[in-house]
Amino acid sequence: MKRTLLPILCCPVCKGDLELRVKEENEVEILEGGLYCAACDVEYPIEEGIPDLLPRTAAE
Ligand SMILES: [Zn+2]
Repeated sequence: MKRTLLPILCCPVCKGDLELRVKEENEVEILEGGLYCAACDVEYPIEEGIPDLLPRTAAE
């Protein structure tokens, strides 16, 4: 996903802001990493450039 997407993404559970955690990126986009919601204490993974924002809880 492109960094420019971050401002329009929000947590699917609480609609709060997400913190970008980059593990691997190229000049175009983030390839591996996560989107972390501090309010829910959940990190949504980014794999192969695709953010997985399916709702989940910290317990699962
Ligand atoms: Zn949240």
